[in-house]
Amino acid sequence: MPATAPMMSLNGRIVPYDQCTIHAFSGVVKYGAGVFEGLRGYWNPDRGDMYVFRLREHLERLRYGMRVLRFDTVFEAQFMQDSLIAMIRANDLRETVHLRMIAFLDGDDELAATGPVGLVCGAVPRPPSKAVRDGVHVAVSTYARLSDNVLPPRVKSTANYVNNRAAELEAKRNGYQGVLMLTDQGKVSEGSGACFFMVRNGVLHTPDTASDILESITRDTMIQLARGLGMEVRERTIDRHEVYDATEAFYCGSGYEVQPILSLDRLDLGHGKPGPVTRALQKAYFDEVEGRTDAHPDWRTPVWANSQGG
Ligand code: PMP
Repeated sequence: MPATAPMMSLNGRIVPYDQCTIHAFSGVVKYGAGVFEGLRGYWNPDRGDMYVFRLREHLERLRYGMRVLRFDTVFEAQFMQDSLIAMIRANDLRETVHLRMIAFLDGDDELAATGPVGLVCGAVPRPPSKAVRDGVHVAVSTYARLSDNVLPPRVKSTANYVNNRAAELEAKRNGYQGVLMLTDQGKVSEGSGACFFMVRNGVLHTPDTASDILESITRDTMIQLARGLGMEVRERTIDRHEVYDATEAFYCGSGYEVQPILSLDRLDLGHGKPGPVTRALQKAYFDEVEGRTDAHPDWRTPVWANSQGG
């Protein structure tokens, strides 16, 4: 059984899951010409509302990706927002969900086709994560992260995920729950679906945006939250062997949220348990996304508050 909610949005129309189909010879299938977004809608039971987290930034990134893939249609943010919210409402979703949007090359044309372009939105209910609570054991990948002049990691294209998938499969095969990818220069880059932070000498460090990472919205959130808590954050090039000396490390991403990394290559980081900095940042993060603080109201788009009958 698919975990995806029963109603989806295809090109602005609400359709049942099994009618949300495109041709097997479409450009996205043949050539991997698609751009993906993964977002979260957080249910706040006290306010009886769902908040889509940093929707504007996700839609801006999607539009950027569509432009870089030279799609002849770059959907307006408003159209994409309306499609997403309509899909959530069509499913009457009143729980925390992972939201997925793909702008894709449709039709059945040759390699340099630029249209027609489609948009699909769906939701997958997501219960609280065990990895967020307990942490994960991680290995350095033997696969190098894609580099900017190969397939730009800052474009969240579906084709990029062949690289991430290979790394994740390798890690799972070897008994790990997560992976740390290095750039083709051997510098720390990111996980298969999340960005990376570590605490070393009391300072928070994360690979800079030229380390072949996705320019992650959660990464930006964490940097702002950490600075707000008075922590020093450095964005820079990081060596693999610095990480073995970290006292704490964590992944962050819309899907992953904030996951403590307990060990790298079976070497414990700190005490091999989720540390105080990670726990403080997790708390700050969940307070934001679930709407228990009013520090950044512009980061949350309510789904039901403004809806008729909501
Ligand atoms: N890196 C990769 C490779 C990812 O797939 C993701 C998930 N989108 C992230 C980082 C985290 O990005 P974001 O915080 O924008 O979800």
